[in-house]
Amino acid sequence: MSVISPAGREQLHQSLDQMIDTLPDSLAESEKTEQLVCQWLQQMANQTFRHWAEEAKPAEKPSSCPQCGQTLQHRGRVRLQVQTRLGVVCFLIPRYRCGRCQQDYYPDGERLRFGSHGVSVPLAQLICRLMVRV
Ligand SMILES: [Zn+2]
Repeated sequence: MSVISPAGREQLHQSLDQMIDTLPDSLAESEKTEQLVCQWLQQMANQTFRHWAEEAKPAEKPSSCPQCGQTLQHRGRVRLQVQTRLGVVCFLIPRYRCGRCQQDYYPDGERLRFGSHGVSVPLAQLICRLMVRV
């Protein structure tokens, strides 16, 4: 069973069919075809990641506050927008609060972005590699 719903899968498959239907029929248009396929690949990668982000399971609830040991309270979900190698993706992540410390915890937040920056870890790694080469 896929983490992406049947409706999401169908949408992705339809996108492939639509792209194929727009391809030129002449070798003279290879430049245009290359651009169309590249553009479609970027869109598909982003759409696939977005579908996955909507349906993948969040991390387990932390057992207790890391600072004081108090039981954490679930306080709903918050939207986290992250720039990734595949474009912008929004995640809905659970928020937990310690009543004693008045501190919020986002167990998935640390995995989904690099520090407090709005970029994913793979994108941050790519940027670092590129900066080393300059
Ligand atoms: Zn606490």
